[in-house]
Amino acid sequence: MDLEERTLEQVGDTCEECGAKLTPREQQAVLESGGPALCTTHAAEVVPLGDDEPEDAA
Ligand SMILES: [Zn+2]
Repeated sequence: MDLEERTLEQVGDTCEECGAKLTPREQQAVLESGGPALCTTHAAEVVPLGDDEPEDAA
């Protein structure tokens, strides 16, 4: 069972939204941003806000 290896292989290979195969350029952008694997189209829809601004902090 090589589940861990398989998981690592899949990261950054395809868009998590539409499943499109990422181009080397898109994969590079994912690596640089450290964000989820998204194609150019979907990456543009995601605004990198960060995790230090909770919207509904009581
Ligand atoms: Zn996509």
